[in-house]
Amino acid sequence: MVHVHKFDTVIVGGGGAGLYAALEASKKCKTAVVSKLYPQRSHTGAAQGGIAAALGNLEEDHPDWHAYDTVKGGDYLTDQKAAQVLAEDAVKVVYDLEHRGLAFSRLENGKIAQRRFGGHTNNFGKGPVRRACYAADRTGHMILQTLFQQCVENNVEFFNEFFAMDIIMDGNRAKGVSCYEIRTGDVHVFYAKAIMFATGGYGRVFMVTSNALSGTGDGPALVAKAGLPIQDMEFYQFHPTGIYRMGVLITEGVRGEGGILKNRHGTPFMEEYAPTLLDLAPRDMVSRAISEELLKGNGIRGDKKINDYVHLDARHLGRKLIESRLPDICEFCETYLGIDPSEHPIPVQPTAHYAMGGIPTDIDGRVHDGKRVIEGLYAAGECACVSVHGANRLGTNSLLELVVFGRRTGKHIADYVQGVDSPSGDASGADTVISRISSLRNKKTSKPIGPILQKMKQTMMEQVGVYRTESEMEQAIQTVKSLRDEMGGVVLQDSSSNFNTEVQSYFEAENLLLVAHSIAVSAKNRQESRGAHARSDFPERNDDEWLKHSLVRMKGEIDISYSSVDVSRWEPKPRTY
Ligand SMILES: Cc1cc2nc3c(=O)[nH]c(=O)nc-3n(C[C@H](O)[C@H](O)[C@H](O)COP(=O)(O)OP(=O)(O)OC[C@H]3O[C@@H](n4cnc5c(N)ncnc54)[C@H](O)[C@@H]3O)c2cc1C
Repeated sequence: MVHVHKFDTVIVGGGGAGLYAALEASKKCKTAVVSKLYPQRSHTGAAQGGIAAALGNLEEDHPDWHAYDTVKGGDYLTDQKAAQVLAEDAVKVVYDLEHRGLAFSRLENGKIAQRRFGGHTNNFGKGPVRRACYAADRTGHMILQTLFQQCVENNVEFFNEFFAMDIIMDGNRAKGVSCYEIRTGDVHVFYAKAIMFATGGYGRVFMVTSNALSGTGDGPALVAKAGLPIQDMEFYQFHPTGIYRMGVLITEGVRGEGGILKNRHGTPFMEEYAPTLLDLAPRDMVSRAISEELLKGNGIRGDKKINDYVHLDARHLGRKLIESRLPDICEFCETYLGIDPSEHPIPVQPTAHYAMGGIPTDIDGRVHDGKRVIEGLYAAGECACVSVHGANRLGTNSLLELVVFGRRTGKHIADYVQGVDSPSGDASGADTVISRISSLRNKKTSKPIGPILQKMKQTMMEQVGVYRTESEMEQAIQTVKSLRDEMGGVVLQDSSSNFNTEVQSYFEAENLLLVAHSIAVSAKNRQESRGAHARSDFPERNDDEWLKHSLVRMKGEIDISYSSVDVSRWEPKPRTY
C-alpha cells in the first residue's frame, strides 16, 4: 500500500543534527522527521566525552583559537570560513542548549565544567586548553533528550521506524523522499519544499567500529544513487581507543582527564610521537602511533601485528574521579572486559569512528555538486561534509557540528520554504522503491547477506584502514565491486510484511557497499598522506597537487572531480604537536 504525505520540510534522521534542524524549522513551517530508529536511539545518544566551545570557564580561551585548532587538526583541508562559523556559533549554541535544560556537569561556581580533548590548544598551538563542555560521559544522550523534548513541544511530526530509500528529484530540485515503513511493509512518499538528510555515519563499513548498527551511510548512498557527487570519502577517522577486538569506544575524555597510553614495556610512548600534546594529539596521529608501536612489537602480545593492542592506563586518576566523571566508562569496562579501570589498564586498539566525508554542503546546509546548489536539498551532521573537519576531525567537534549546522540548516529551511511553491506529486513517486522491493522478493537464487558484509568489513579494515597502499586499495576495490555484483543474487528468507527487517538489511547492505566502494576509490586516487589518509607509498602531504576536495560520482561510470579548499585565513603549514 502507498501513502502520500505533504509537508513544508521533511528531515530524514532524528539524531542531534536532524532534531536541531527540526526544532528551528518547526518554528515557521510544517515539519516532519522520518527516522529508521526511534529518535532517542540515534547514535548521538552514544556520544560520551563532550562538546567543544571556547567558553573560557577555567582558563582563557577564544573562538579564534578554536577555529585555528580545527583547521590545523584537519591538516588544512578544512574550509576556514566554515571552521570560524563552527567556533563562533559554538558559544551561542552551548548556552542555548543550557537554557533549554541540558544538564551539563558544573564547576563549584556553577559554570559549565570543561575538560581537555585532543588537538584543542590555547594561543594557536602553545599548549592544551580545557574547551570540552560535558555532561559526565553522557553528553550526546543529554543533547538528544533535550532536543527531542523541545521538538515535541514544537509539534514536529515524527514518523518512527520509517526507512528512507529514494530521493525524488525533479531536474535540479529535490522534491520528495520515499520510505519503507518497517512495521507494516507499506511505502510512504513524502513531498516537501525542502528535504534534509541527517542520517549520521557509516562506521559499519569496517570490521572494528565504535558505531551503532544503524551507521550504514544511507544518506550519502541515496544522494550518490541520485547521481550527485559525495565529497572527501577517503578521509575516515580511526579513534585510537576502542576496546580491543570489540571496537566499543573508550572516550578520549579518559585521556582528557589524564589517562595515558602505554606499550608492553609500560612506556608512555606518545612522548616520542607528539612531544607537546602527548596523549592529547589529534586522533589520526595517536592512531598511527599505536599502529607503529604494534608493528614494532611493542603491543601487549608483542607479535608485531596490527591486530595487537596497547594499554590505556587510568589507574593513577583514582576511583573517585573515574566514577564521578567517567561513570559509563566504568560500566563498559566491567560489562565488556570484567575489569575495574581504577585497578587495571584498559586494552585498546584503533576503531573506525567518524566519517569526515559525505554529502557536500555550504555553511547553511545546502547540498551542492561542487558547482551549483541543488534546490530544496539539505544535509547536516555526520552524513554531511561542510567541510569543517577537513582530513581529520578533532574530538568534541562533531557534537558541535551537529548542533551548529543542524541549527543553521533548520533556520535556512524555515526561510527558504516561505518563497517556493509546494512540489506536485502523487503515489507514482513510490514506483522506484516498490519495484526494487518486488524484484528482491521475486528472485530465484539464494545467497545470504551476512557473508557478503563480513567480507566487505574485513577487506576495508585490512586494506583501506589506518595505513594504505596502492596495491591493497586496488584489491579492495575489486573485492567490493564483486561483492556489489553478488548482492544481485541475494534472496530474502522472510516473505512477511510486518517487521520484515530483512528488507531493510538488504538495502542497508547495498548502501554500505556503495559507500565502501566510494571510500576505496577516492583513497586510491589521492596520492599523498593527509590527516586520516595515511599512505605508506606516498608518506608526505602534497599541497601543490592535493590541497583540494575530491568529489566522487558513483552512478554509472565512476568519476572524480575536485573543488578548491578555502584557505583564506591561515596558510597551510606542516603539522607538529
Ligand atoms: C560511541 C561514540 C561516541 C562519540 N562521542 C563523541 C563525543 O564525545 N563528542 C563528539 O563531538 N562526537 C562524538 N561522537 C561522534 C558523534 O556522536 C556523531 O558524529 C554524531 O552523533 C552523529 O549525529 P547525527 O545527527 O549526524 O546522526 P545520528 O545521531 O547517527 O542519527 C542518524 C539518524 O538518521 C536516521 N537514519 C539513518 N538512515 C536512515 C534512513 N535510511 N531512513 C530514515 N532514517 C535514517 C537514524 O534513525 C537516526 O535517527 C561519538 C560517536 C560515537 C559512535
